[in-house]
Amino acid sequence: MESLLRRAQKDHTLSRSEIISLLTAEDDQPLFDAANQVRKQYVGDGVYLRGLIEFSNFCKNDCMYCGIRKSNERAQRYRLSPNQIVETARKAVEYGYKTVVLQSGEDLWFSAEKMADIIHKIKETGAVVTLSIGEKTRDEYALYKEAGADRYLLRIETTDKNLYEKLDPAMSWENRVRCLHDLKNLGYEVGSGSLVGLPGQTIESLADDLLFFQKLPVDMAGIGPFIPHPDTPLKEVAYDGNFNLSLKMMAVMRLLLPDINIPATTAMETLHPQGRMLALQCGANVVMPNVTDTVFRKKYELYPGKICVGDSAEKCRGCVERKINSIGRYVSTGKGFHGDFLKGK
Ligand code: SAH
Repeated sequence: MESLLRRAQKDHTLSRSEIISLLTAEDDQPLFDAANQVRKQYVGDGVYLRGLIEFSNFCKNDCMYCGIRKSNERAQRYRLSPNQIVETARKAVEYGYKTVVLQSGEDLWFSAEKMADIIHKIKETGAVVTLSIGEKTRDEYALYKEAGADRYLLRIETTDKNLYEKLDPAMSWENRVRCLHDLKNLGYEVGSGSLVGLPGQTIESLADDLLFFQKLPVDMAGIGPFIPHPDTPLKEVAYDGNFNLSLKMMAVMRLLLPDINIPATTAMETLHPQGRMLALQCGANVVMPNVTDTVFRKKYELYPGKICVGDSAEKCRGCVERKINSIGRYVSTGKGFHGDFLKGK
């Protein structure tokens, strides 16, 4: 185990069976320590903050795990107007965010033209724009890019095609992969990622997820523990081990892709009061505090127990910085593109 970790720290290669042995090892501390060292060497002690705007919870899809799935009649739907989105982004920039992330369900009200207009206006503030709005055509992605979008987040969720198509009815795994390739070819910084602990998901398929991210390769990858939502078909699924397994996934990912951006996801903090700070010590280097207006936050409920639903954007910004400082790290003032630290930016 020690020699395997030493080697991976240097050459950043691991076979599928080596990944499986790391994900299943009894003692996870050596893996976490190795990932933390690689993180320090390749992305430094700075933590990039991205201001997250959850602008609509309307969704045409029906993912079995997701609280804002189309069939969930208990979800209270909301949609910010384009002006409200741009205003929220301006506020995020005032709070010091260098990047705003626009996330939503797949809401068809936002035509490509409407999105392009919003992106264009936000870019005038100088912010880097990340989109996380699901599967679109190549032409739509091209239009957003022309309007100024810089990055795109689209989790593959799982590389197990059968599992994906079972949990995301009427969606095609190949199309999701097509989206990731189109985004890459169009020059976006591409973020992907997976859910950890889905019913029927195997350790082997989690290892495949990591190899998939390495092969693409992604510029960023977010690992989220699956948390069952009470108004979804997966409400009864056990999720005890998902937090720890997610930490291990992030750590192995840091070994495989030493200089990418890895967020300490919000879902981690739902499962553990120090979840994001622990993630930052197991390979992660990004946090995405919520800047959505408090009245809408609770309604963007992908999973239950979401943190900070009653807090203001201003409070979250201060609170996150204090936590980051408390573990001996600092909020980075750079824009946080892939590889910036090694370039001395
Ligand atoms: N429509 C966009 C954004 C999806 S929501 C898209 O398709 O990319 C963002 C992420 O929330 C999803 O990619 C999924 O990984 C995560 N998510 C959904 N339900 C969840 C749950 N029950 N527990 C944890 N994470 C969940």
